[in-house]
Amino acid sequence: MKTLLTEAELQAGVARMALDIATAYGERPLTIVGVLTGSIVLLADLIRQLDMRLRVGVLQASSYRSGTTRGQLTINSEMMLNVTGRDVLVIDDIFDTGHTLVEVVAKLKELSPTSVKTAVLLRKHGRQEVDFEPEFVAFEIPDEFVVGYGLDYADQYRNLRYLAALEPEDLADDRT
Ligand code: 5GP
Ligand code: MG
Repeated sequence: MKTLLTEAELQAGVARMALDIATAYGERPLTIVGVLTGSIVLLADLIRQLDMRLRVGVLQASSYRSGTTRGQLTINSEMMLNVTGRDVLVIDDIFDTGHTLVEVVAKLKELSPTSVKTAVLLRKHGRQEVDFEPEFVAFEIPDEFVVGYGLDYADQYRNLRYLAALEPEDLADDRT
């Protein structure tokens, strides 16, 4: 594995994004919706950088069934807060093809929020398949499969404090 972003770089990027978010919303209270499971570390760090009134909910979107192949996306919103009439900010780990966020935002809009914006830790170059732009992006990264800081490979590595790119020999090694 090779380190793409160190712990210090991640913290600085999250702090920068928090400042952008705080500036954009001003005094308006915010409803943050974290997309499980990849956003948990970002969610925990980001909300503690936001000195404003906010509520936190989660929903689950799973598409990567195991490994790096994409499966059918399913959204489970049973654990989510009421978002009707609220300014909603969706938090996700990475914007890759973009299908996940497009579907999550469409689902949230059915619930008549005042607004829906999206914030992601990472955006991968050259992968986008949708006509959609996340409003807040902490880092742009090359097209590599990354793990750590919440992101997994076959449910491993979410606890790494840094972001690493898996190399072909790591992908072959399917440990559980
Ligand atoms: P999208 O729908 O934008 O293609 O994919 C978004 C989801 O795919 C992310 O929330 C994440 O769960 C997963 N994903 C995309 N790229 C990567 C990656 O490089 N590493 C990991 N661990 N997950 C990824
Ligand atoms: Mg995800």
